[in-house]
Amino acid sequence: MKERGLLIVLSGPSGVGKGTVRQALFAQEDTKFEYSISVTTRKPRQGERDGIDYFFKTREEFENMIENNKLLEWAEYVGNYYGTPVDYVEQTLEDGKDVFLEIEVQGALQVRKAFPEGLFIFLAPPSLSELKNRIVTRGTETEALIENRMNAAKEEIELMDAYDYVVENDNIELACERIKAIVLAEHLRRDRVAPRYKKMLEVE
Ligand code: 5GP
Repeated sequence: MKERGLLIVLSGPSGVGKGTVRQALFAQEDTKFEYSISVTTRKPRQGERDGIDYFFKTREEFENMIENNKLLEWAEYVGNYYGTPVDYVEQTLEDGKDVFLEIEVQGALQVRKAFPEGLFIFLAPPSLSELKNRIVTRGTETEALIENRMNAAKEEIELMDAYDYVVENDNIELACERIKAIVLAEHLRRDRVAPRYKKMLEVE
């Protein structure tokens, strides 16, 4: 029996650069994950192609997919639906390949419930770690601005709790390297590897 692939979920706050990191990752030849193309009701942007960037659907078609349990997760984001086709994910994992989802945070939480064994990576804005430092050293921010920023940072940190790993997006290439390192390490986890060895030695 083939070993099942890993379900890798990259998510994080809006504007952190999830799409950019995902594109950079898949532009690299040695990336071996399969990208799960999402379904959306938003209109294609310049240069986007149906079946490559997204499967572009009407609201009615999307709602039919929800009703017929065709989506692993879905969310409404800035007035449009986005969702992950479940059949593709299941089939690809079954074939022993790793599947990569790049989705917003609500969807990631749903996947966490359906696939607790998935690998959840939170892409964090670089400002988060520097934030306190900057606020303290600058000393020029107004009280209100500091509070706003600290509140935004707190919300982002709380979102992290549902994830296994945090990758800071301070540099796109570095972020890609970190993601690949995490996936490699995940494949080497004892609980994934041991059954293979035990089978080989035929011990229980
Ligand atoms: P955009 O419209 O800029 O391509 O994507 C908007 C947001 O939707 C991004 O945060 C992206 O990660 C998220 N997104 C893309 N596909 C999916 C999906 O299948 N499910 C969910 N929940 N979010 C998605």
